[in-house]
Amino acid sequence: ASLADAVTVPASAELFARARRVTPGGVNSPVRAFRSVGGTPRFMVSGSGPRLTDADGRSYVDLVGSWGPMILGHAHPDVLAAVHAAASAGLSFGTPSPGEVALAEEIVARVPAVEQVRLVSSGTEATMSAIRLARGFTGRPLIVKFAGCYHGHVDSLLAAAGSGVATFGLPDSAGVTAATTAEVLVLPYNDLDAVRAAFAAAPGRIAAVITEAVAANMGVVPPAPGFNAGLAEVAHADGALLVSDEVMTGFRLGPAGMYGIDAAREGWSPDLFTFGKVIGGGLPVGAFGGRADVMALLAPDGPVYQAGTLSGNPVATAAGLATLRGLDDAAYARLDATSTAVRILADDALTAAGVPHRVQRVSNLFSIFFCDEPVQDYDAARRQDTAGYAAFFHAMLDAGVYLPPSAFEAWFVSTAHDDKAVDVIAKALPGAARAAARA
Ligand code: PMP
Repeated sequence: ASLADAVTVPASAELFARARRVTPGGVNSPVRAFRSVGGTPRFMVSGSGPRLTDADGRSYVDLVGSWGPMILGHAHPDVLAAVHAAASAGLSFGTPSPGEVALAEEIVARVPAVEQVRLVSSGTEATMSAIRLARGFTGRPLIVKFAGCYHGHVDSLLAAAGSGVATFGLPDSAGVTAATTAEVLVLPYNDLDAVRAAFAAAPGRIAAVITEAVAANMGVVPPAPGFNAGLAEVAHADGALLVSDEVMTGFRLGPAGMYGIDAAREGWSPDLFTFGKVIGGGLPVGAFGGRADVMALLAPDGPVYQAGTLSGNPVATAAGLATLRGLDDAAYARLDATSTAVRILADDALTAAGVPHRVQRVSNLFSIFFCDEPVQDYDAARRQDTAGYAAFFHAMLDAGVYLPPSAFEAWFVSTAHDDKAVDVIAKALPGAARAAARA
C-alpha cells in the first residue's frame, strides 16, 4: 500500500494491513490483491444496483459484478426477498429440498442439451467433477485444454503453459505434480489443427476436450467461426467428450448462454456443460450437466463419486433461481444496450487519446486489449500493454469506476446500470485514456 493510499483510502489501507497479517497477500482470491495494477485493494462494504461503496465511503460504478454473478446488480430486491425467505426457513438441511429441484429445472429448461444437472458450490467444483465424469465415462486418461482458458483451480486444469501439438503441459502452479499435468494436453486456443493433431497422436486416449464457451479469462477472445463446432466434431469422431465451460458465459450471453448462440443454432452440442456465477446470483452455486447417459454414471446411480455438504443449499439456490427468473428477454436487451454504450464510449476515448487498443466481445461480454492486433490466443493476449492498462484502471478508479484490476479480465455490466451509471463512466473515460497514453 502506498503512502498516498494511506491518506486517500485510510480505511481500506488499514483493513489491508490487518488482512495481510492473517491471510496470505491479504486476500482470499489472488486477483483481488491489485498486484498487476498496484495500489491498495478497495474493501467494499455495500453494493446497490450498479454501485459499490468502500470502507472509506467512496462510491464506484461497478464493472466487475463480483466477476459475473451480479448480473441484476447489487442487492436486487427480488433476489434479497428470495434469500430472506429461504434463510428464514433454515440455512441448510443436508437433505434434498425443493429449491434445488426448481433451479435444476430452470437450467434444464433453458439449455435443452442439459438433460440432467448436478449442483455444486463453485465453478471449480463443476469443472473438476465434469472431467472426472468424462474420464469415468470414456475410461480414458487424457484431457485437452487451451492455453489462456481458466477453469478454476483444479490441479490438472491449472496447466496453461506450453503450446503446440502433443505438448504435455508443465505445472503452472507449484504443488501440481508432473504426473497430473502429464495427463493434460495444453493447446493454443482457436487452433483446430492443433486439436486434430493431438487426437491423431493419441487416438482413443483423450477423454475430453474442455474449453471456455468463449475464452474470457485472458480478456475476451471469441471462438473463431466454427471453432467450437469443430471441437465437437473432432472429439466425437474419436469417441471423446466436449465439455463446454459456461461458468462465465452461462445465462449471461443470452437465455441459454453461449449454447444458445452457437451450438443450438448450428445443430451440434457439447456433451457436458459447467456453470457457476449467474446461477448463484452472488451466493456459492456451481453446476455441471449434460447428456443423461453420461450423467447416469454419477453416484448414487453410477460409479463416479461426487458429493458436497452444502450442494444445492436452499439459500444459495433461492438466490440463483431469483436471478435466473429476472433474466427475461428485456433484461438481455438491456445488458446488450448498456454494454454497447460502454464499449463505444471506451473505444472513442482511447481512440481520441491515441491509445492502441482492441475491443473484443461476444454478446454483452467484452474486454479491451491495450494492443493494436486482433487477439486470437493467449500468446497475443500476453503481448498487450499491461502498464497502460494499470494507468487506465487507476484513473478510472479515482473517477469512481471500478474496473477489473487486471488487463486479462472481462468487463461485466448488469441490468441495474442506468443512464446515471453510464454517465459516470463516460465522464471518467477521457482522462483515463489520456493517463493510459502517458503510461
Ligand atoms: N470456469 C470459468 C470459465 C471461470 O471463469 C471460472 C471463474 N472465473 C471458473 C471456471 C471457476 O469458478 P470458481 O471461481 O467459482 O471456482
